[in-house]
Amino acid sequence: KINASQFKKDDSKVLFKDVAGLGEAKVEIEEFVNFLKDPKKYNDIGAKIPRGAILIGPPGTGKTLMAKATAGEANVPFFSTSGSDFVEMFVGVGPARVRDLFEQARKNAPCIVFIDEIDAIGRARGKGGFSGSNDERENTLNQLLVEMDGFTPLKNVVVLAATNRPDILDQALLRPGRFDRQITIDNPDLKSREEIFCVHLKPLTLDNTVEHYAPKLAKLTPGFSGADISNVCNEAALIAARKMADQITLKHFDAAIDRVIGGLEKKNKVLSPQ
Ligand code: ATP
Repeated sequence: KINASQFKKDDSKVLFKDVAGLGEAKVEIEEFVNFLKDPKKYNDIGAKIPRGAILIGPPGTGKTLMAKATAGEANVPFFSTSGSDFVEMFVGVGPARVRDLFEQARKNAPCIVFIDEIDAIGRARGKGGFSGSNDERENTLNQLLVEMDGFTPLKNVVVLAATNRPDILDQALLRPGRFDRQITIDNPDLKSREEIFCVHLKPLTLDNTVEHYAPKLAKLTPGFSGADISNVCNEAALIAARKMADQITLKHFDAAIDRVIGGLEKKNKVLSPQ
């Protein structure tokens, strides 16, 4: 059975305060928040609002979180999907899903459409890639381009997308009227890691304050992404609970960091066999 509506409406409310660090990215994306909050003001004065933005950065750095927070701040619906959901063996399903997604978005405007892993459909045309389904992927990409700046105006819909492979994207996606803005989101530095720890330590029962732990843990986790940090916090809580402790201590965090590093090493090994 072919399911034409893979995309989902996400009602969980995320705000900028839940996204630690990423100050510059927030400033850039605020333009969309302001527009979505009051599209009439912008439309009346004749301003052409950028259609969308691509968030570029390594995995786990908060791209999805940032997109959700944009919807949360503007208080508009958030429709999310992944580029890989459009890559199908059956001819015509990919473009049909794109049409479906945008039809839904038009009905719910003002709103945000978020496409994770846009590179799965947006890689440069005629460059190979997915075996067998290349024409189909091009059709899907063409449909996306048509939806973004085609004959049916996409009024008051902002399209956000994420990728960690900007180098392979079809340049047509980056033209004005499509993803006009590119926002880079890098792995967090020391200060940002501390801020991300603050967010994820807050709900935990610690044997000391969040202010005590955040800087300490940030120093112990160079190269960690926001997702890794969130993992460390949860692992520490799991380890403490398994040991029947009533509070999480530095010992638990040390073990959690080791475990997350172990997981990362395993992942790297799989990705680059020696
Ligand atoms: P991917 O490319 O793998 O889809 P992503 O960049 O979209 O990753 P998210 O899914 O947004 O990453 O992040 C995963 C989780 O990591 C978030 O749900 C959150 O718990 C945590 N996280 C990442 N970055 C931050 C941040 N800046 N502040 C707070 N939490 C963060």
